[in-house]
Amino acid sequence: MRSGARSSGGVSDRDVERIADQLSRKRVLTLAKVGLPEDVDDKQILRVAWDRRCIIVTANGRDFLPAVQRFLRQTKIRECHDLFGLVVLPTGFETQRRILTDAEARMRFGGAPVRWADVWNRDYYVRLRRDGAADVRLLPRCRYCDAQTERR
Ligand SMILES: [Zn+2]
Repeated sequence: MRSGARSSGGVSDRDVERIADQLSRKRVLTLAKVGLPEDVDDKQILRVAWDRRCIIVTANGRDFLPAVQRFLRQTKIRECHDLFGLVVLPTGFETQRRILTDAEARMRFGGAPVRWADVWNRDYYVRLRRDGAADVRLLPRCRYCDAQTERR
């Protein structure tokens, strides 16, 4: 991951166990590893992450959320487009490495501890701040799921 790079996010093609393992070992997988160019657009990243069921790790959170919203709102295919977690890091390789070292110990949702596996399972949106603070929320459901819920 390049320091301060716009698309320094990464999408992994590994299974969740592997990703959780990688994250807890302070390693963030890069776009290059799944054959995507550094200047790939957010829509493509989302497509690959959804298709391969993996956590998205990015240092580009502010720009990324609108793309997430658009992805979840798509209606062309009648199937679930929920994602598998989004982790937003501050920029700077060393900062990212330091923060990821013990991020898991500081992630909580509704008072309960959150593991990397939970981020994937429950589709959490995790923002890790420069000072190490972790902000954990739920990512919105996709339009298809929203419609299903309304019908029930
Ligand atoms: Zn859905």
